[in-house]
Amino acid sequence: MSPPAVPAALHPVVAAFLADRAAVCAALERFGSPLHLVFPQVFTDNLTALTEVLDRARCGSRICYAHKVNRSSAFVRTAARAGIGVDVASAAELRSALDAGFTPDRIEITGPKGLPLVRAAIAAQVTINVDNLWELARIADLADTAVPVLLRLSGFPGSAPSRFGIDLAAVGEAFDLLARHPDRLTLLGVAFHLDTASTQERVRAVGECLTVIERAYARGFTPSVLDIGGGLRQVFSADAAAYDAYDEALRAGLLGQGPALHWGTGTFGYHVAGGVTTGTPVFHKYANTESAADILAELLAAPLPGHGGRAVGAVLADNLLDLWLEPGKAVADRAGITVSQVEFVKRAGNGATLVHLDLSRDTVTAADQEVLIDPLVLSEPGESAPTGVFFAGRLCLERDLVTQRQVRVARMPAPGDPVVFPNTGAYHMDLSAANAAMHPTTPKVVVHQSDSGFLLCGDEEWR
Ligand SMILES: *Cc1c(COP(=O)(O)O)cnc(C)c1O
Repeated sequence: MSPPAVPAALHPVVAAFLADRAAVCAALERFGSPLHLVFPQVFTDNLTALTEVLDRARCGSRICYAHKVNRSSAFVRTAARAGIGVDVASAAELRSALDAGFTPDRIEITGPKGLPLVRAAIAAQVTINVDNLWELARIADLADTAVPVLLRLSGFPGSAPSRFGIDLAAVGEAFDLLARHPDRLTLLGVAFHLDTASTQERVRAVGECLTVIERAYARGFTPSVLDIGGGLRQVFSADAAAYDAYDEALRAGLLGQGPALHWGTGTFGYHVAGGVTTGTPVFHKYANTESAADILAELLAAPLPGHGGRAVGAVLADNLLDLWLEPGKAVADRAGITVSQVEFVKRAGNGATLVHLDLSRDTVTAADQEVLIDPLVLSEPGESAPTGVFFAGRLCLERDLVTQRQVRVARMPAPGDPVVFPNTGAYHMDLSAANAAMHPTTPKVVVHQSDSGFLLCGDEEWR
């Protein structure tokens, strides 16, 4: 018995690279294992798809790549070359953006900022996306010329409480501060960032922001930007039906109504009781099938209550407002993979087959998440005999199981086989990577498809 397969959506460039097992082995030989690989061409394709949607809208627009999604300097250089903006959230990201060639007028800085970062942002003359009134007051104290600011708003009706931003109820105070310091603060516009899949929730936030912009005009300010943040979804799975089939088999196993696909007592966030599973699993993001470009198009076309039901994009255009967005994971989608190697295979006391890898779980996912697309084993050609295995990590901690679920493999992996974790470029490869057990940091390497084949170089060296 082997579990259903959950094939990952691969960009054609990535698929072409992985089709050559010898080339993948050569990359591991040259740069070591494990290895994060980033594909700037895929990043560019994602940007193009979003740009095409924005070009069809009548309003002006700007994409600010959210740097925090990946530390890769190849990605940030690709963004700089594409002529878009960048959204940075730390002093190091600010330096990285400047090094990549972004001019200050194309950089905005968001997120929580202490005094040193406020000073750095003012000195760099970038747009400051202001998180709170304390920050706005410090900018007014420290600026010697007018600093362009966006007010990041939160507290929208129907949205989850947020630790970020200025509550809608405090906007009047922000206006008072802006009015007292016209020589030090220029209100460029308002902003929000919602990590939601719901277009309706974003439309509501846009509506609230437009009301704030009207109030700003009434106070004599002239904001021209509405920044809708990031949160556009990725597409991980190549086959929605396969995802559903796996999810169903997994839940049947949890209920004891089928073979157990889970390890130990884990339930992946499902609540298991009374012969049913309820709740949202930790891997729910893997279910999405709608592309970021489609989500963006849907938002721009959505009717805006209170504006005669006209579409969001049309209302922005009519009010001469520029739409800014800060996509992170949507531009890194499918643009990075992590490659490891099989160290050995063993059978555990509970009968499970454990495929030990030379990486740990936190190199490819956050501890509380479970990856619900299958790693690819690049086996030597041979007879196919599908089976279910767990991939185990190299830390001597029980919890370092890279997959806490059985994964279908076409045949039993062998020591040295490359194992590829698809689509780790957005957060997975960078947000949680620890250096436990004195393992060195996993290197990052650029893969570029050229007429003469694939070229590889260190992420920092890529131009
Ligand atoms: C993280 C973040 C983003 C990027 O979010 P994605 O979900 O990766 O698109 C954009 N804006 C802000 C303020 C953020 O904190």
